Amino acid sequence: MDVPKALNRLGDALEYFRRRKFSIVKVLKVGEAYMLSKGSLYVDVWAPTKDYVKYHDYEKLVRGLELDRVQALVIISYRPYTIMDYLKRLMDAAERWYGVSNNVKMIGVSEADAERGVEEAVERLHTYFAELISRPATVRERCPRCDAGDLQRYQFDDYFSQKLYGAARQYVYICDRCGLRISRQELLSRS
Ligand SMILES: [Zn+2]
Repeated sequence: MDVPKALNRLGDALEYFRRRKFSIVKVLKVGEAYMLSKGSLYVDVWAPTKDYVKYHDYEKLVRGLELDRVQALVIISYRPYTIMDYLKRLMDAAERWYGVSNNVKMIGVSEADAERGVEEAVERLHTYFAELISRPATVRERCPRCDAGDLQRYQFDDYFSQKLYGAARQYVYICDRCGLRISRQELLSRS
């Protein structure tokens, strides 16, 4: 795949992440990939050139994507779940054989519906890593799961949601006892 075409693949996604207040930390040296940050969250956004990952590519990939520096990896591809399966198997094998643990959270975005996909990826990043991005406010709401803990509420920046079709805001509620996470998106107005 030539470079200009590859650059176009991630162009729109990067623009979207920047609008959602992610900053570009660096360009990574593996295919087309960027490391982004928001608060203390570090995440790679990667458009692989192949649908598979072979074992001898794995080490190169871990180094190239600097997977020891990030908490999450967003894979933008026509077959993201196939690649995630390969990676997961290789990560499990590396852990079994060498005791190398890799806790990188993988999020797949289908290139066929990238616009909604990246919106959902940001929503999931906010949900999994709320504590790294935002500060909590205590709300007087009991946890619906354990009925013992209080929910902490994390608020995120307003944005235009393609899914809800309007200006929206995401809240993430986390139970201080059992760790339950709930994501809620509220529509602010119809446009
Ligand atoms: Zn709870």
